[in-house]
Amino acid sequence: MQDKPLLELRKVRREYPSGDGVFVALKDIDLDIHAGEMVAIIGASGSGKSTLMNVLGCLDRPTSGIYRIGGRQTAELESDDLAELRREHFGFIFQRYHLLGDLSALGNVEMPAIYSGRSRAERKERAASLLARLGLDDKLENRPGQLSGGQQQRVSIARALMNGGRVILADEPTGALDSSSGREVMQILRELHGDGHTVILVTHEPTIAEQADRIIEISDGEIISDRHKGSAGGARALSSSLKRGNGLFGFFGRLQEAFHMALLAMSAHRLRTFLTMLGIIIGIASVVSVVALGNGSQQQILSNISSLGTNTLSIYPGRSQGDLRSARVQTLVPADAAALAAQSFVDSVTPSVSTSATTRYLNVAASSEVQGVGEDYFRVRGTRLLQGSFFDAESVQNYAQVAVIDDNSAAALFVNGDNPVGTVIIVGTVPMRIIGVVENNLLGYRQSNSLTIFSPYTTVMSRLLGQHYLSSITVRVADDVAMDVAEQAVTNLMTMRHGVADFSVFNTDNIRQTITSTSQTMTLLIAAIALISLIVGGIGVMNIMLVSVTERTSEIGVRMAVGARQGDILQQFLIETVLVCLLGGAIGILLALGLGYIFEAAEMGFAMIFSTSSIVAAFVCSTLIGVIFGFLPARNAARLDPVEALARD
Ligand code: ADP
Ligand code: MG
Repeated sequence: MQDKPLLELRKVRREYPSGDGVFVALKDIDLDIHAGEMVAIIGASGSGKSTLMNVLGCLDRPTSGIYRIGGRQTAELESDDLAELRREHFGFIFQRYHLLGDLSALGNVEMPAIYSGRSRAERKERAASLLARLGLDDKLENRPGQLSGGQQQRVSIARALMNGGRVILADEPTGALDSSSGREVMQILRELHGDGHTVILVTHEPTIAEQADRIIEISDGEIISDRHKGSAGGARALSSSLKRGNGLFGFFGRLQEAFHMALLAMSAHRLRTFLTMLGIIIGIASVVSVVALGNGSQQQILSNISSLGTNTLSIYPGRSQGDLRSARVQTLVPADAAALAAQSFVDSVTPSVSTSATTRYLNVAASSEVQGVGEDYFRVRGTRLLQGSFFDAESVQNYAQVAVIDDNSAAALFVNGDNPVGTVIIVGTVPMRIIGVVENNLLGYRQSNSLTIFSPYTTVMSRLLGQHYLSSITVRVADDVAMDVAEQAVTNLMTMRHGVADFSVFNTDNIRQTITSTSQTMTLLIAAIALISLIVGGIGVMNIMLVSVTERTSEIGVRMAVGARQGDILQQFLIETVLVCLLGGAIGILLALGLGYIFEAAEMGFAMIFSTSSIVAAFVCSTLIGVIFGFLPARNAARLDPVEALARD
């Protein structure tokens, strides 16, 4: 017998809260176990055997008393140090095997080495050789569900040996097995003892206990007998033949395994994973497509505006739009237009007047808008000519009775199919010859229900209205002049000419800026709503992950028993949540792109414009949601008590 025990218990007490008081499961146990011993702990059910095993294996801490491992006080150790002891020195074998159902035999055996950071190749090789040594070389890829009880127990023995397993702790290893499988397992344990492993075995069957060198009997939390039979076997301590993975490499290896495990867990519950993602999918799809719709419509409006000419200023009578007296202001006259045209910063000027009149051709009559405009009007507005020609400066000077009609008017008046160009129509009381047909595209929009007739403003003023003033002047500013400077110059000139500011200047650039900022505000508003929906989605994810942690408590317990640190468990669940959210985000983006495709195919008049930044933002958002809402469940998982987690089935 060695004088220095491997495991040393002094007055170890373990109490459980029970009702108002406490239940004492271990009553001041004193016990020494030396390296290389094979010990059987025997006792009736409920006598405290498992409690003692859990304390010995550092799954549980004593309420009071001292437990030393190789001379080291366990009370002083952090939970990660205890995890290291479990991982590197102890090997657990449970009555119910506690294998993870989603992993193959090989995967289960490998697990302890993942947490100690050994390389994949090394792990696989050692796990396969251990399984082969236990007669399972043809079952490496089988799931626990496809193995018999005896085979599962052999897998769990291989797992206990994976990191060396200097001390094997077997809690009723044969309890769930038939007698021949039980004999095999005992045979293996004896061989391990022969190889130098310290084996501690719990059983309630005396025949099994007889196979150990030392039998400790326990009753109601107290050791009532401690018998040694024969010699204490080969007491050489096994030194772990495996090298430890270095820090960084080990970290990435564990990260990779955590990804792998997360994918496994997700594919094991596909429907639930999908439902978890649904909130994220809908949230991300709506954010991305709403932003794309906003961009698309904004682009459309802006391009309509630029079709009006981006560098035009319109001058209207009246101090402001909606000025009640503007109809009575008669000071905007063709001479103003001429004065403006003479300015160096002006490219071209088009005065305009408008009225409405009944237009007749043969026996067809229609009410139409009559626009009296200058010859440059069509160029300033970018109007598209369908047929014939525009009128020229000469027609304007000569008060020519010519008209350019839009295609709506052509369709309304020429129901008999006559060619409009060259025909004379009666506008109000004035006969006019049609010289051209243009596309109806006022203000950049097709106005399906209005008929518009364009005529020289001189003609409309003198023959149709009998007035000397204009209803507006549109100035096209020269390309190299800044709009605000031009606007100021126009205002100054007009104020000087009129003596008072009885007009207003309308800058298309301003409209563009207004629309841009309005749609930015809208996008912001919608993004805020979408963000709320994403948060709701995130809460959904958190909810399901919390349930999932509860459901997988025993899995977490097993992982902790084989030496997973709290950080490993935290990482695993966090990665799982982030992956769920990222995948949801990716599906959401695809959904939005699909919507955009349908939208384009349906020819709604404008396309959705997807920006890279909104897609990147969606990915970042879903990752953040995963991290934020995955943290609580993951922390709950990591904080589970290993013994309690294991006990839950
Ligand atoms: P054995 O393994 O010998 O059958 P255990 O060590 O599992 O016995 O349990 C010893 C006693 O401690 C039992 O009476 C049991 O009811 C009690 N016990 C075990 N675990 C807990 C717990 N988590 N909370 C309260 N009582 C417990
Ligand atoms: Mg028990």
